[in-house]
Amino acid sequence: MDFDYSPKTKALQGRLTAFMEEHIYPNESRYWAEIEANTKAGKRWTPLTLIEELKPKARDAGLWNLFLPESGRGAGLTNQEYAPLAEIMGRTPWASEVFNCSAPDTGNMEVLERYGTEEHKKQWLEPLLEGKIRSAFAMTEPEVASSDATNICARIERQGDEYVINGRKWWTSGAGDPRCKIMIFMGKTDPDAPRHQQQSMILVPTDTPGVKVLRPLPVFGYDDAPHGHMEVLFENVRVPASNMLLGEGRGFEIAQGRLGPGRIHHCMRLIGLAERSLELMCKRASSRVAFGKPVSAQTVTQERIAEARCKIDQARLLTLKAAWMMDVAGNKAAKAEIAMIKVVAPNMAAQVIDWAIQAHGGGGVSEDFPLAYFYTAARTLRLADGPDEVHRNAIAKMELGRHAA
Ligand SMILES: Cc1cc2nc3c(=O)[nH]c(=O)nc-3n(C[C@H](O)[C@H](O)[C@H](O)COP(=O)(O)OP(=O)(O)OC[C@H]3O[C@@H](n4cnc5c(N)ncnc54)[C@H](O)[C@@H]3O)c2cc1C
Repeated sequence: MDFDYSPKTKALQGRLTAFMEEHIYPNESRYWAEIEANTKAGKRWTPLTLIEELKPKARDAGLWNLFLPESGRGAGLTNQEYAPLAEIMGRTPWASEVFNCSAPDTGNMEVLERYGTEEHKKQWLEPLLEGKIRSAFAMTEPEVASSDATNICARIERQGDEYVINGRKWWTSGAGDPRCKIMIFMGKTDPDAPRHQQQSMILVPTDTPGVKVLRPLPVFGYDDAPHGHMEVLFENVRVPASNMLLGEGRGFEIAQGRLGPGRIHHCMRLIGLAERSLELMCKRASSRVAFGKPVSAQTVTQERIAEARCKIDQARLLTLKAAWMMDVAGNKAAKAEIAMIKVVAPNMAAQVIDWAIQAHGGGGVSEDFPLAYFYTAARTLRLADGPDEVHRNAIAKMELGRHAA
């Protein structure tokens, strides 16, 4: 077993780190200042000039579309090679977009690549890969417990050459951005079909009549503008029948294909976020003296620092194993590892960030440090893309299955 990164990965890690140091970290305060200025000008839901300025620079530096394995359209990296790069991007929550590697676009592009027709690819995948438009994934509904996706009850009904869509979604991330031009919508085509064949996924252009963005949902008070997590109403929305992905009743099949890469990308980024938080924790704890010695000299701080290091390294190794399994055996065969890392990484990151907040005292929960915002990202991912309990149930089921008579 070789734990070293490949020469190709190491070279990209070096270039990406240099880019982060030159263009991302120095612009962190500008990012927030621009959102505030936009808000004051009544343009809160407007794409940021900063991101648009940095995108061509990342592209010129060859740091573009680094995800998308097994495709001539991406950078040709495997999931295992991409993992340590996503980790670096994850050190600043908004950085991935600069490299066209952000959620939910990466998961949606994987769906289009894998399940889209040539026409879908031309119309939607190409502009997404160019970073010209953005996308959203509309599955969760306010009326039903959506962690059990068989509950999803929005309707997709065939009428002649069209499908008519009706339903209400919430937590549709990215739908606040005016550049969001396409949604992947999950709904029921046949309520009488077997349980896992009732749902389908269909492409809905956001400018179709009947699509109404109702409100942004704040996360611990952050609305993530201009991206946003929106409640969206679909009222008699008509799209061509050719917008159906893969075929009626095949929504679960697609969900399995999409959520694998989407989930592991979140985990990779969270490892970077935790790593950065530990760094901040060490620096702060070493620089403040309380009761006659640096906070870092307190054994409780050292215990937490050591535990954080152990947890981050454990999570990274499991993520790399999951990525490797996806590469060598496919997303389906890696489902246990993907479920495990989806539980481990957000819990690890939330704990590490919490310790870092504690070491910062009151400053930790303020906006003078990035930790409070980091925490919201990690905590949220114990829910988004499936709550911990659902993944734990799946892991337990597989484990019990292995020991069944
Ligand atoms: C910031 C954010 C972004 C999101 N982005 C998107 C997006 O882009 N697109 C999208 O479609 N959705 C998105 N979601 C929604 C997310 O995927 C759902 O919130 C999640 O799947 C849970 O569904 P639910 O909210 O309906 O909770 P429910 O299904 O009502 O579940 C509530 C709770 O019940 C418990 N529970 C559920 N099942 C079990 C079980 N089997 N065993 C034990 N306990 C259980 C869990 O504790 C769970 O948290 C996002 C959510 C957040 C917070």
